[in-house]
Amino acid sequence: MSPWLECCRRSLQGRLFVRGSVCDAAVRTRGLQPRTLTSTSRCCSTVQPGVRVRFAPSPTGFLHLGGLRTALYNYIFAKKYGGVFVLRLEDTDQSRLVPGAAESIEDMLEWAGIPPDESPRRGGPLGPYLQSQRLHLYSQTAKQLVESGHAYYCFCSPQRLGLLKKEALRAGQTPRYDNRCRHLRADQVQEKLAQGTSHVIRFCLEEGVEPFQDMIFGWNRHEVAQVEGDPVVMKADGFPTYHLANIVDDHYMKISHVLRGSEWLISTSKHILMYRALGWQPPTFGHLPLLMNKDGSKLSKRQGDIFIQSFQRDGALPEALLDITTNCGSGFNTSRMGRRIDELISEFNPSKITTHSALLDLERLPEFNRIHLLQHIEDEQVCHLLTKDLQEQILQTYSAEIQDKEVLHEDYIKRVLHLRKGHISSLKELVNPTYAYLWVRPSFSSQQVAAVTAESHLIASLVLKLIEERGEELTMDQLSKDLKSLAKQPKATKYREVMKLLRLALSGLQQGPSVAEMMVSLGPAEIQHRFQKLLQLSHSG
Ligand code: GLU
Repeated sequence: MSPWLECCRRSLQGRLFVRGSVCDAAVRTRGLQPRTLTSTSRCCSTVQPGVRVRFAPSPTGFLHLGGLRTALYNYIFAKKYGGVFVLRLEDTDQSRLVPGAAESIEDMLEWAGIPPDESPRRGGPLGPYLQSQRLHLYSQTAKQLVESGHAYYCFCSPQRLGLLKKEALRAGQTPRYDNRCRHLRADQVQEKLAQGTSHVIRFCLEEGVEPFQDMIFGWNRHEVAQVEGDPVVMKADGFPTYHLANIVDDHYMKISHVLRGSEWLISTSKHILMYRALGWQPPTFGHLPLLMNKDGSKLSKRQGDIFIQSFQRDGALPEALLDITTNCGSGFNTSRMGRRIDELISEFNPSKITTHSALLDLERLPEFNRIHLLQHIEDEQVCHLLTKDLQEQILQTYSAEIQDKEVLHEDYIKRVLHLRKGHISSLKELVNPTYAYLWVRPSFSSQQVAAVTAESHLIASLVLKLIEERGEELTMDQLSKDLKSLAKQPKATKYREVMKLLRLALSGLQQGPSVAEMMVSLGPAEIQHRFQKLLQLSHSG
């Protein structure tokens, strides 16, 4: 039997799985069951041993949608199977670190409602969670690899490597290291080390890579040694490269499943070779398909607008962001909109993740936001927070213009929110000029009134009488009926003009919510105030 077939046989007998039932099998093999989540249970109270996943960004930039999605699938996977979600910051490329990015990544995960269980900030039993604080582990492992003959010191100068690259390019080949230092004798190595010659450590890539079963992409195997030279695992500055640090940490942090972007799929064979060289059991791998723009183009990190902080600044709700990034992808039993994290967890079905790229239509974000805002408004506790938030925004936007402090009252703001839910996508909209009438009295002139109808005096009186009759109890249904019959009474003014006049008196505008809704929002006292003014302007007109 060929080594490849032998590997497949061993894998199938052992812990790898057949596509389609991969994840169920993964979970079964580990004796784990999906946790049943109620809509209120958010975290795991009983963490079953076994599932440990991680999100391992490099703080070389701020968190963007692609990263959020990887973190989210890991979070959901952990919560579904009663596991632990780890945040590890891979900060070994010190030259590319962006100040503030590390803190911001963790802030954003918390803001999004998918906080890690173990992280640089929260700590945990298998920390530290910042690679720059784990350097001893990497050098110890690199040394272990050298001692067992799986890695070697390389003294090639940057000039020599540059030359190799140039020659390869000239010959139309892909540049690769020629593994020269692999063949140095022990005494040559010792001599160079004793002389303090600058060096790196390279891992010996061997042929005969074993296949592995990716949870999403199925069987995979990249004969890396045929396309690459031996990779550097320790740099001359004593820092590890990504490949070494990543597997060392996944091993020592007891990561059971590596769920990461599909761009890492081709590196996995290399990682598995390293696991085997160290005598370690590799984790189960699952590579998530790429997240792309709806036209199939790359979701560029350079467009400032895909950073989570900009969504946050623009008033996007975290739930809406999570919903839209999973809605376009796969791995769920349904694709309905409006799912909150608990529902995402209970509807998650890893065997449904496909290999197709996920096409994200960000133009639909306001729609998602609208649905989630509605759900927030309907939740009494959250609504209380929303009223506080909106109150602040009203004060910031209109402070000096507010004539009636009643508009800052929680009950008033709540009433507005309940009337506008399902129509608005963010709280911010409510402080736009379109809704200014809710917080400040409109200004309009007698000329504007006269331009609508000559019967404004009569109409204003009818409204005032109606409001007096209705007392404090204004409902949309009743008011709509009342307004219809009221509009029949002026002889020379059509229904449309009557409504235009009412709208002008209530808001100073010609568009906006229905007149009945405006009235219910404002309440009887304020309606009376505004129609008294109309009455005065009608006299003088
Ligand atoms: N630091 C890598 C990244 O930023 C992690 C890749 C992985 O998850 O293994 O993408």
